[in-house]
Amino acid sequence: MSTLHDCMCADAAHAAMKRAWLIGAGPGDVELMTLKATRALAQADVILVDDLVNPDVLQFARADACIVYVGKRGGHPSTPQHGIVEQMLAHLNEGRSVARLKGGDPFVFGRGGEEQQALHAAGVDVEIVSGITAGIAAPAAIGIPVTHRDHAQGVVFVTGHGAGTSEPDWAALAATRMTLVIYMGMRRLNDIVGALLAAGMSAQTPCAAIESATRPEQRHALATLGDFADAVARAGLGSPAIVVIGGVASLAKDVR
Ligand code: SAH
Repeated sequence: MSTLHDCMCADAAHAAMKRAWLIGAGPGDVELMTLKATRALAQADVILVDDLVNPDVLQFARADACIVYVGKRGGHPSTPQHGIVEQMLAHLNEGRSVARLKGGDPFVFGRGGEEQQALHAAGVDVEIVSGITAGIAAPAAIGIPVTHRDHAQGVVFVTGHGAGTSEPDWAALAATRMTLVIYMGMRRLNDIVGALLAAGMSAQTPCAAIESATRPEQRHALATLGDFADAVARAGLGSPAIVVIGGVASLAKDVR
């Protein structure tokens, strides 16, 4: 992994604060990145990349840009959050423009909000470049419209990662007529399905899980809630995946 010292490549002659961006790289398919994101990447001296980001998007970076991988995957060690912000501040202080590149949208999970707060606290005005979040793009990739009005009054983006006090209130969520779109839900899928069924959600509720959406290796499983955890296990699906629970999942097409 590159360190601050490896990144002296860019022109650091002037110590004035340069630009900082928090950029959403979209769900994977490079063509689903925004023009604004590609243009910001093309200006950055240093790019700090999360591991859900498709490395192909770095084709928009300058050839002399310094690329630093700071992500973690499924519980493996990564650069601590404060370490990432410290690296960004150090580069900015040295006069380098810094792009922080995150999967999907920078403000939908993935802790972009915390990074913005820390940068603001340090007096840095960071530009936010929105991206297409996996919670919309992954269902769409198999034809699921998350708010189709025949099936849902809205959509809830919820983390499946929380446990203990940060456990979502699945009983309350089961009682809404909202599509549930669950991020980071694969590891606890059995518990989540069990909680929804225990709360009275119908075992016939359509469900989908989409792994590596919009990438060539995209795969998915469709089932009703009663069979869903088994179907996902049979299909061998793992992270990163989006789980969709609700009537809209019945609109999925076997597109691949
Ligand atoms: N900021 C990101 C989400 C980060 S949380 C966004 O807006 O998309 C990480 C979770 O996002 C993963 O555990 C998975 O649930 C989901 N995810 C990200 N990219 C994905 C992809 N290409 N396919 C399926 N799920 C994805």
